[in-house]
Amino acid sequence: MTKGITIAGGGLAGLSLGVGLRMRGVPVVLHEAGRYPRHRVCGEFISGVQATTLESLGVAEDLADAHRHVRAKWFREGDELLDAKMPQAALGISRYRLDARLRDRLVGEGAELVEDSRCVREPGEGLVWAAGRLPKKGGWIGLKCHLMDFPMRSDLEMHLGSNGYAGLAPVEEGRVNVCGLFKLDRRRRGKGSGLLRDYLRQGGNGGLVGRMERAVVDESSFLGVSAFELGWQGGEESLCTLGDAEGMIPPFTGNGMSMAFESAELALEPLERWSQGKISWEAVVREIRERAHRKFRRRVANAMLLHKMLLDSRGQRLISVISKSGLLPFRPLLSLVR
Ligand SMILES: Cc1cc2nc3c(=O)[nH]c(=O)nc-3n(C[C@H](O)[C@H](O)[C@H](O)COP(=O)(O)OP(=O)(O)OC[C@H]3O[C@@H](n4cnc5c(N)ncnc54)[C@H](O)[C@@H]3O)c2cc1C
Repeated sequence: MTKGITIAGGGLAGLSLGVGLRMRGVPVVLHEAGRYPRHRVCGEFISGVQATTLESLGVAEDLADAHRHVRAKWFREGDELLDAKMPQAALGISRYRLDARLRDRLVGEGAELVEDSRCVREPGEGLVWAAGRLPKKGGWIGLKCHLMDFPMRSDLEMHLGSNGYAGLAPVEEGRVNVCGLFKLDRRRRGKGSGLLRDYLRQGGNGGLVGRMERAVVDESSFLGVSAFELGWQGGEESLCTLGDAEGMIPPFTGNGMSMAFESAELALEPLERWSQGKISWEAVVREIRERAHRKFRRRVANAMLLHKMLLDSRGQRLISVISKSGLLPFRPLLSLVR
């Protein structure tokens, strides 16, 4: 008898876990509150994921044609700070495309997918909660949209401002995704991509706004989210949580999607053992949480510290001075958040 797993949430953690479990013969039902394809607030570049992780989940093929971003330029209020080569290429693909591909793969592997189905957050045997970050009274707003006819100045661009930061990453079909994380300011009233431009302007990134205004904006890709906190999400000890539902790394790292895949990978083996009746559900939940904290503790803590520094004007000035003198240890800093 193989017991089945129910997954709440069809983002990257839930979908890739479902595919990995199906490949191991475990019955899977996945409930997704929304419908595919859909845009997500996300920088849409995946940095730090290992090929072995994607292979063990059975999703490597779905990323095979993603852009390979090798270089990144960092700016502060329009001023170039750094032009660096990434130690490992970052993968560029929209969530609109990637999540829909993973949905197709999940269904192709024989899982049951229920769209438009919002689960109730309640611990239960066989239930994995991969429904993303917890709604909290956070002070952040994330905004994104796709641009067309937008010339990039590097493979990836990162723009620091006084109120947050924004990343630019090319995805498929000549589109560039622009996505920012800002301190929430309730006085901002812009609509659609106008709101994103408003936040960028407020943070001193008027030059970037000018470039955006010369491009074509796909308003249907515009999306915003607020009411969330970065870092470990907390919650019920007895609930089996994965991906952002367990912990959210600050977005400047480009590592959140990798963490979603990695957390799905580390959960595969304990969940398979449970489905074969070899281990209790309590032990599975404990083991997955311990594995996740062991793997991600250091990178989340370091990323939270660096994120604070990136948003602090003294921290930004210090970064500017060091990087202009050519002494910014980009690779060692990046390795702190991997
Ligand atoms: C502004 C911003 C920029 C980012 N940029 C990047 C980046 O460039 N690179 C990177 O790697 N990461 C980035 N991230 C982080 C990345 O988006 C997340 O880490 C990743 O999406 C987490 O995947 P997940 O599957 O855990 O959650 P999600 O992708 O959030 O998926 C959760 C899913 O659960 C569904 N759901 C919610 N509630 C329920 C329910 N009750 N029942 C059923 N389904 C439910 C949702 O509809 C959703 O589809 C960024 C995040 C933000 C906010």
